[in-house]
Amino acid sequence: MGTNITPRCVNCSRPAESHIGEGRTCPGSAGLVGRHYQTMQLPSGLTCNDCQFMNFCHGFLGREGSETSCDWFPIKFVPDIAKFQKLKQTEGGAA
Ligand SMILES: [Zn+2]
Repeated sequence: MGTNITPRCVNCSRPAESHIGEGRTCPGSAGLVGRHYQTMQLPSGLTCNDCQFMNFCHGFLGREGSETSCDWFPIKFVPDIAKFQKLKQTEGGAA
């Protein structure tokens, strides 16, 4: 595997393994009640191109769209619904 950097939770800065139980709640998180494990990594298989903020991040931060992690803290990734609906339509096809 090599030089994998262990992703850390942006809420409590602990690795994923420290988050156990249902919903992966942040451990010992006084003041973080209800927080869950979260990293800057985008959901598996998605890139910045799939995000609603891509235009902004491309224009102001110079993101290319192929990135798989977010530069915002905490993560700001919001799937571009319009794009996904388009995908669904082209994939689904008419019966
Ligand atoms: Zn955490």
